[in-house]
Amino acid sequence: MELEAWHLLVLPLFFALGWAAARVDIRHLLRESRAVPASYFQGLNYLLNEQPDRAIEAFVEVAKVNADTLELHYALGALFRKRGEIDRAIRMHQNLVDRADLNQEQSLRALFELGLDYMKAGLLDRAEDIFKRLQDSPHALDARQNLLEIYVLEKEWQQAIAMAEELERSGLPAQNAETAHYHCELALNALLRQDTVAARANLNTALAKHRKSVRASIQLGELEAQAGDDAAAIAAWRQVESQNPAYLPIVADRLYQAYKRQGQAEQGLQLLKAYLERYPSADLFHIVFNVLVEHRGWGEARALAAEALKRTPSLRVLDDYLQARSAESEPGDLETRMAQDLVHRQVSRTSHYQCGRCGFKARQFFWQCPACAGWDSIAPEKAQHEQ
Ligand SMILES: [Zn+2]
Repeated sequence: MELEAWHLLVLPLFFALGWAAARVDIRHLLRESRAVPASYFQGLNYLLNEQPDRAIEAFVEVAKVNADTLELHYALGALFRKRGEIDRAIRMHQNLVDRADLNQEQSLRALFELGLDYMKAGLLDRAEDIFKRLQDSPHALDARQNLLEIYVLEKEWQQAIAMAEELERSGLPAQNAETAHYHCELALNALLRQDTVAARANLNTALAKHRKSVRASIQLGELEAQAGDDAAAIAAWRQVESQNPAYLPIVADRLYQAYKRQGQAEQGLQLLKAYLERYPSADLFHIVFNVLVEHRGWGEARALAAEALKRTPSLRVLDDYLQARSAESEPGDLETRMAQDLVHRQVSRTSHYQCGRCGFKARQFFWQCPACAGWDSIAPEKAQHEQ
């Protein structure tokens, strides 16, 4: 194609148009940036320089000056809440809730955030009121999940069960393991009122909800044992093996005591030894060791400990072994006693149950972590820790 003269005339025109378009874009950008207060950029600068406190102050200034920066309000409010500055978060969100110029959707979001603030502040009644009001809003699902959390914190188990069912109806996956715990809690409350019928009904519901609820089996066994039916107690406790053998150390001693009450101590001992064979555990070993001491004397207990030490050397088994050695030793054998004392103190100081979710350590076993409120998050076997 030949280049015609008129092409030469059109080309500069295209250039001019492109230049003008770019100018318009730049002008638009400049106008936008002038609308953003300087403290916004200051805040960003502080953030980039890792000075979050000064960044927050700068952003607060922006929020004060420019009431249209709703997203910034939400972001700041959530930040205050996360940092534990609950008063400020509450003030910020309450202010948004009170504003008449926000549309319904914006107000509801502010209300939801305020509910979260109250929850974090531990003002559960106020949080509950807010989340109840939000049950017909676009925040309904989140509000119900928070309500469930509140009922669990308040130990309102009936309401927790009802809310869990409602969440399930809304399409969330069923949390049967948790619901089983709520029924176990109700069973404990019923026992305090000496209502064994309600206790039993709740434990059966727990098992119907969650077949592997070790806790329900353990509590059911206790109910039977208290009613004097050791055979039924043993049957309930033996369920633990098929439900989750990791929990056998929690139930082993009770199981043995029930056999013993029935005049079947030897059978109980054999069962525990078989468990230990199948599911090696230092806690279970310690229980079997104590039963052996009681039933057969120190010699056999020491022999079992020596054997276990060869297979899996651990400070806790060594503690049991040295205890047997010390008990068998001559009164003048100070070395054995000193070694035993030292190891025993170290083991007692460093053995804890621990939450796999938040790291909380305790001497006692809990179904629900006292620190993070997680269910079944504490392993049923003590672990050895340095501190
Ligand atoms: Zn925890």
